[in-house]
Amino acid sequence: MKIVMKFGGTSVGTGKNIRHVVELVSKNTKKDSVAVVVSALAGVTNSLLEAAEYVKKGDEKHIQTFIEDLRSKHLEAISTAISDKEVKKEVTQIIEKTIAELEKVLTGICYVGELTPKSKDYVVSFGERLSAPIVWGALKNKGLETQWFTGKEAGIVTDSNFGEADPLMNFTAHLIRERIAPLLEKGVIPVVTGFIAADQNGIVTTVGRGGSDYTATILGVALKVDEIWIWTDVDGIMTTDPKIVSNAKMLPQLSYQEAAEMAIFGAKAMHPRALEPVIKENIPVRIRSVFHPENLGTLITKEPFSKATEVVKAVAMIKDVAMVNVNGAGMVGAPGSYARVFDVLGKNSINVMMVSTAVSEANISMIIKRGLLGRTISNLEIALLDRGGLVSEVTAEDDVAVIAVMGAHMKGTLGVASKIFSTVAKKGINIRMIAQGSSELNISFVVKEKDGAAVVQAIHEEFNLDKI
Ligand code: ADP
Ligand code: ASP
Ligand code: MG
Repeated sequence: MKIVMKFGGTSVGTGKNIRHVVELVSKNTKKDSVAVVVSALAGVTNSLLEAAEYVKKGDEKHIQTFIEDLRSKHLEAISTAISDKEVKKEVTQIIEKTIAELEKVLTGICYVGELTPKSKDYVVSFGERLSAPIVWGALKNKGLETQWFTGKEAGIVTDSNFGEADPLMNFTAHLIRERIAPLLEKGVIPVVTGFIAADQNGIVTTVGRGGSDYTATILGVALKVDEIWIWTDVDGIMTTDPKIVSNAKMLPQLSYQEAAEMAIFGAKAMHPRALEPVIKENIPVRIRSVFHPENLGTLITKEPFSKATEVVKAVAMIKDVAMVNVNGAGMVGAPGSYARVFDVLGKNSINVMMVSTAVSEANISMIIKRGLLGRTISNLEIALLDRGGLVSEVTAEDDVAVIAVMGAHMKGTLGVASKIFSTVAKKGINIRMIAQGSSELNISFVVKEKDGAAVVQAIHEEFNLDKI
């Protein structure tokens, strides 16, 4: 069998965990060919983003402390994961060189005082550029034949939509087949950085937060593998985030459509676009736990989760979002007014995650990523206020969360919405906005973020999801 195995941040978070990863990989290389995709060490991507924001404001002193922390974290991982002196030396040299480059990049940002989506991708790419060589060294330390690649070196070419780039799939597949497939044939284990790629000009891009899953499926499709295994820190895709509800249940099997719906609506266990490449090729994806490798996890294939006839299968909370309300009596009965609002957002690359309007037409409410809030309000105000009275006011709430309730059997079943909303009402929690897609695969609504966990727990209990 040919398998792509992707290891997330926690799975490679420490030297000890990396040793465990080596065991899992080597167990499977006896009879299977394995390609490995790795994320940055846990927390590193966030810390890179924070550091970049800090130094942008001119705080040069911050660079030193940040770089020292980052260096010691990676050196610690090397010293625990790799015992062979030569390998240790080789990996340490790569890490030192990469960190020295990062230091220069951060210093540059500090002096220029500017952080563009392009430079942000460059900074954030260092997370995976630092983790992959360590995993490579640890595999080598075990006596396995292996070679490591950045996403760019492996052949992943994307558009130039920095921060959320999309692969140019045919070109990418061609390059990956040329560069990576021959290694697999020879029994060499390719280790590829997740998340990062390059555009057609060779400039570093990233495929969106949590994007190593996407890298894994891109690689899997290009290499025509038999299965893709997403190793993570939970048993599989569950009825809800086990960090919110401790008795959340693992769903042993899901269809591509069900899993994609869950990923899009907040089940962080997988990147929302990760399933796109595999659906056409019908390659099974398995989400499984590095801590319980004896469990087979969630298998995602064409088939729906046949056993569960439950109407609701899962509930998720999406944090880090904001609600924007565009109000104006001028929009009532004015053809094209909504189009103008969305045109402004589209032209400024602001993705709208959820929309709701009232029949009165005097208000549109939208959910966007919280980080885009400032840009959203200013662009809407500049473009729409005082232009013939179409829009009178743009307001926002930045302390909200989306709750999404999902399940294929919701389609055509009466009373699901009323049961959900009465459950929330019983908790005395106010709903700020509601939307139901016409696919009827989910109902989403917005509450204050501080109430989100309580709402998820109440719905999980009301629909008996722990007994699914
Ligand atoms: P990795 O670093 O391995 O990619 P992530 O943190 O991206 O891991 O995703 C795994 C996490 O997703 C889990 O630790 C869990 O808290 C969270 N999560 C949220 N919703 C779900 C869900 N429905 N099923 C499983 N995990 C979920
Ligand atoms: N390291 C990246 C992130 O934190 C990609 C990933 O973990 O999948 O978003
Ligand atoms: Mg992830």
